[in-house]
Amino acid sequence: MSVIDSILEHNKKFVEERGFEAYETTKFPDKKLVILTCMDTRLIELLPKAMNISNGDAKVVKNAGAILTDPFDSVMRSIIVALYELQADEVAVVGHYGCGMTGMNATPVVEKALDQGMEKSTLESLEYAGVDVEKWLKGFDDVEVSVKNSVDLIRRHPFLPKGTPVHGLVISPETGELTVVDKAE
Ligand SMILES: [Zn+2]
Repeated sequence: MSVIDSILEHNKKFVEERGFEAYETTKFPDKKLVILTCMDTRLIELLPKAMNISNGDAKVVKNAGAILTDPFDSVMRSIIVALYELQADEVAVVGHYGCGMTGMNATPVVEKALDQGMEKSTLESLEYAGVDVEKWLKGFDDVEVSVKNSVDLIRRHPFLPKGTPVHGLVISPETGELTVVDKAE
């Protein structure tokens, strides 16, 4: 059975058996927290458990690397929406050790895309149109530095409500231990 078919089969049962009842809550985070973290598979359950976050406690924004690169991208928009429209009043950026974005650069991805059918001319037109593929696919060298950079970008953001605490943490994907990179007063 394909993954999507097994998901759909499970889902039917989940709803029929009212599996959702254990998760009933609202869209407003009880702990008034918004978390930016990585999409890493090891963090799906470990991060909430390690941070004592249950369903309904926090808004969670995820991407590859927990990286905020552009102050007006969708990550920052999500944080701002959580703060203004969803009653969050505190932000935590949570990177993790052993992140796939460590040392990542565009070259291997571009090579695989070309191998898998992207035309060289398409890549050239993107670059001609001003898309900085190198920058877009760039990871970081040190997760703690990356978290600190994201925290600073959020703190300096013109839309950030004054006095909003913004923290930077790094989690171990093995033990769940949190390392504080920068804790707001
Ligand atoms: Zn990661």
